[in-house]
Amino acid sequence: MPELPEVETVRRGLEKHLIGRKIQRATQLHPRALNPRSQAPLDAIAGAKILEIRRRGKFLWFVLDREYALVAHLGMSGQFLINPDESKHTRALLTVSRGLRKDQLHFNDQRTFGWVSVEELHNGIPSSATAIAPDPFESKYDQGKVVAEINRRNVKIKTAILNQNIVSGIGNIYADESLWLAKIHPESLASVLTKSEIKRVLDCATEVMRKAIVVGGTSFDDLYINVNGESGYFDISLNAYGQEDEPCPRCGRAIKRIAFANRSSHFCPRCQRVKSSTR
Ligand SMILES: [Zn+2]
Repeated sequence: MPELPEVETVRRGLEKHLIGRKIQRATQLHPRALNPRSQAPLDAIAGAKILEIRRRGKFLWFVLDREYALVAHLGMSGQFLINPDESKHTRALLTVSRGLRKDQLHFNDQRTFGWVSVEELHNGIPSSATAIAPDPFESKYDQGKVVAEINRRNVKIKTAILNQNIVSGIGNIYADESLWLAKIHPESLASVLTKSEIKRVLDCATEVMRKAIVVGGTSFDDLYINVNGESGYFDISLNAYGQEDEPCPRCGRAIKRIAFANRSSHFCPRCQRVKSSTR
């Protein structure tokens, strides 16, 4: 599933190809392609010019020379492809032009958890993302506030950093990697950690995601392809995620995998001890 670094990679790809281009046609090809929160049908954006491609967490949107924006969420397997081979998974199709040049931008999505929508912006943010907290790469991100918010919660630290209403963009892979780097057990209670420990987790999350953006994003789902149609599998080195029984790169102890909210958590039982005592 694409996380922030993958979505940022897609955003950069779209930005490179689409800024200044006109959307000649926009066609919805699958009933679930358009989010029910869309304020207009997809073809409402026909004739608009693409001014900017923006992102918050995993939400992408095309800023248009209109009152509304084209918003997109990749869900589990959404892809943007320019002039790809025909696919039965194409959910929406945009014809984008510049001068005489015309290209087809396909929104493909095998599992149909992704969507597009036409929405008004509120202070620059689409309505469907207004409850989504700023991600660590935004100027609106206030780390002190996020630390305090997490510290107030009586939940596991991993649950807190995955909560997109507290801080956006962190998914399962980067959560495990961040907690490993910060030497914090995923099941430590957020309210029991010190503010400096929570800050360390957030700093590590930012660092891990920044590195992944540099590499071009990573995904372990071969359904995910970036905007150019290249494979989305970028080989960043993972220390914890998916490394069950492999030696911890820091201490050599075998990485452990435990169940977590229908998925898994990976951690080093030596470097990451559960903190349950009061501070
Ligand atoms: Zn270790």
